[in-house]
Amino acid sequence: MAKIFCVANQKGGVGKTTTTVNLAAGLAKVGQRVLMVDLDPQGNATMGSGVDKRQLKQTIYDVLLESATVTEARVKSARLVEAGCSYDILGANRDLAGAEVELVDVERRERRLKAGLAKVEAEYDFILIDCPPALSLLTLNGLCAAHGVIVPMQCEYFALEGLSDLVNTIKQVHANLNKELEIIGLLRVMFDPRITLQQQVSDQLKAHFAEKVFDTVIPRNVRLAEAPSYGLPGVAFDPAARGSQAFVEFAKEMVDRITNMGTTPARRAA
Ligand code: ATP
Ligand code: MG
Repeated sequence: MAKIFCVANQKGGVGKTTTTVNLAAGLAKVGQRVLMVDLDPQGNATMGSGVDKRQLKQTIYDVLLESATVTEARVKSARLVEAGCSYDILGANRDLAGAEVELVDVERRERRLKAGLAKVEAEYDFILIDCPPALSLLTLNGLCAAHGVIVPMQCEYFALEGLSDLVNTIKQVHANLNKELEIIGLLRVMFDPRITLQQQVSDQLKAHFAEKVFDTVIPRNVRLAEAPSYGLPGVAFDPAARGSQAFVEFAKEMVDRITNMGTTPARRAA
């Protein structure tokens, strides 16, 4: 059965999509079966996986509105197959922006994604969900469907402050909607060790969150930023780049984490 993870942070531009597509590619590279779900109407994770969001006949929107199953809506990317790190893609485009309004009156509106994914869980080792930069109904669908949350963050001055809203939301979802949900870990991204402040914030994170901070650190690396314009995750676009290698390391760390998941007696939301 797949382990399902949301990549979430309500702050914009912190590296959620970069983390989702590169972790998906890294996991595929080390032999894991992966489904990547784009839950953001921007469709960046779809495009960044080599799939043209404008050409998609069915998307995550149809799954949420129950007009298609995941099996019908998922696609593969020829570019990823070619690069040897293929994962399945449940894509998104602007249609998804309407889902928020259309779902307001439907029953179990926050559990639509969970219901859709339940039918394909057995086919994957990992399902990764790229969340939009908001604590919206879409993100709530992601949090209800997931076993855990991966939080990418930049080590900047307000990083810890911004985290408390997300931690509170996760606690509420844990208490009311999804007993399984926990923060799997905080991932330090776009890290530049030459900047003293980033070192200091990184130390603070470790002091506050201890083992919840992933060992792997993703460096600031221009190849990761260039890759989306070629329709590929950095891991596929330039496997030798430092950033790509860090994401493959992170994939291995995630495989280790899920092997140990569920073995601790008291799982907490944060
Ligand atoms: P949004 O909130 O809009 O969905 P996001 O959290 O998904 O944004 P990304 O789109 O992944 O963030 O990243 C924001 C920008 O930072 C992008 O231009 C991306 O290419 C760049 N970027 C992300 N990670 C790195 C990195 N490690 N090194 C250099 N650039 C990076
Ligand atoms: Mg994004």
